[in-house]
Amino acid sequence: MFVSVIIAAAGSGRRLGSAVPKQMLDIGGGTMLEHSLRAFHGHRLVSEIVVVLPKGRTALGCETGGVEAPPGPAVHAVGGGDRRQDSVAAAFDRVSADADVVLIHDAARPFVSAGLIERTIDAAMTHGAAIAALQSRDTVKRVVRQSGDTVIVDTLPRETVYLAQTPQGFRREVLAAAIAVGRAGVEATDEAALAERAGYLVHVVDGDPGNLKITTEEDFEAARRRTSRGATDRVGTGYDLHRLVEGRPLVIGGVTILFERGALGHSDADVVCHAVTDAILGAAGMGDIGRHFPDTDPAWKDASSLDLLRQVATLVAGQGYEVGNLDVTVILERPKIRDAVDAMRARVAEAVGVDASRVSIKGKTNEGVDAIGRGEAIAAHAVAILRRRR
Ligand code: MG
Repeated sequence: MFVSVIIAAAGSGRRLGSAVPKQMLDIGGGTMLEHSLRAFHGHRLVSEIVVVLPKGRTALGCETGGVEAPPGPAVHAVGGGDRRQDSVAAAFDRVSADADVVLIHDAARPFVSAGLIERTIDAAMTHGAAIAALQSRDTVKRVVRQSGDTVIVDTLPRETVYLAQTPQGFRREVLAAAIAVGRAGVEATDEAALAERAGYLVHVVDGDPGNLKITTEEDFEAARRRTSRGATDRVGTGYDLHRLVEGRPLVIGGVTILFERGALGHSDADVVCHAVTDAILGAAGMGDIGRHFPDTDPAWKDASSLDLLRQVATLVAGQGYEVGNLDVTVILERPKIRDAVDAMRARVAEAVGVDASRVSIKGKTNEGVDAIGRGEAIAAHAVAILRRRR
């Protein structure tokens, strides 16, 4: 089976303040057109792709921001027409004569799934014409305008109302007949309507609620959130240990705790701040605390580790990151830190610029085992999530 795909990207709709059509704007991980193109280019049943670009443009590479051409279906570009149906007709002229099935897809639906593509191809091959559509979840009213007012004239049974999506698929000869009807003067907003006018039964395959059409500014922002979900979160871990000795203050998470011993170190030897600093730097891929604040540098002697943490938070913010959340385990035999935990969380949260609810600090003993268990040292483990700032 030879499957050709026409991707309609000829629309001239612009986003506020943008000089390029919407489908050419980056939604994260590429433009809408690139996302759509990738969905078909990587599909095992697709043999060739014809992209319809805005009128007068035929150069695909520069218009898509340079889609690579890995092995796979051939990709052609044609210039579009004034109306969508003119654009599709222009693309159809470029479709291979070998095509058994031709799919038409709007570039403004960048989240089309492989499963939906396959269902549409199968149904088109079997029935001649098939489109993806979703049954209406809302009650549908037919209205008329009467002297400036909108009034209902009919309530349509919801189960008979389907909202058309793309892809829409046709056997080659069915689409040829539909396009001929359009060229004869019939206007339609999709090819299914032209196929109906040409006398074909168009079948419906179950659409996908995730197959959004990006039309409004809100849609655009939702698409950006969707592509960035998870993809730009970064995780890092940190660990620190200091000896406990007499004559030193015990500073944990920026809070000084009254105790007979304190942590030995060049700075205030705050294991929580040091572990969190390393976790944040690790998540950002920016090295570790020793690289940024070497203990050979007198500038950091007795430095407040909370200040170092604040500097690192500023550093990663400069790279476009903010802290999603932090989780810290402090390991020490004595004293109990339970009563100071909320104060520590507040200090650390303030230093990294987030709400205290995003910072967790937990205390743990080592059950008398090893140096920590004997009270000779204190340690901390930290995990940090960083996310891209919007
Ligand atoms: Mg340390």
